Amino acid sequence: MSCIFCDIVSGIGKAEILFEDDSTISFLDIRPLNFGHSLVIPKNHYNNFYDVADKDLSSVIKATQFLTNCIKTSLNPDGINIISNNGSSAGQTIYHFHFHIIPRFKNDHFTFRPQFKDYSEGLMKEFAEKIRSAIDSSKGK
Ligand code: 5GP
Ligand code: ZN
Repeated sequence: MSCIFCDIVSGIGKAEILFEDDSTISFLDIRPLNFGHSLVIPKNHYNNFYDVADKDLSSVIKATQFLTNCIKTSLNPDGINIISNNGSSAGQTIYHFHFHIIPRFKNDHFTFRPQFKDYSEGLMKEFAEKIRSAIDSSKGK
C-alpha cells in the first residue's frame, strides 16, 4: 500500500520537517490555508482518527500541543485552528491520520460558515440517547 505520509516518515518523500520524536513527525502542509499551516502525524500508519492506538494518540496530541505553542510564539497569529478531517465527506484527502494546525489572522479570508441547525422538540434527547447507547456498549471493550 503506498502512502505519501508514510513516505515522509521513511525519508523517501520530502517534506519541510518541523519536529520529530519516537512516534510522531510534523511538517509544513504543501498547500497551506495560511503560511505556517502544519501537519502532525503518527509514524505508524492509521487511516484516520477512528483507529489510532492509545500510545500513538497521546503522543500525537502532545506533539500537536507542543507545535501549536511554537507556532503561536514564532508566527504570532491571532488564533489557531486544530482540525482533523475524517472521511471524504469531512474533506479527508490523505488517509494517514493527521492533525492540521492552522494559524489564523484577522481578515485572512479563510471562512468556514456552516448553516447551523435547530433541534426540534425531543430531537436533541434522541441524538444524545443514540450516542450514549454506543458509549454504554463500548464501555469495557
Ligand atoms: P486532508 O485533506 O486529508 O485533511 O489533509 C491532507 C493535507 O495534506 C492537505 O492539506 C494537503 O495540502 C497536504 N498534502 C498533500 N500531499 C502532501 C505532500 O506531499 N506533502 C505535504 N507536506 N503536504 C501534503
Ligand atoms: Zn501512511
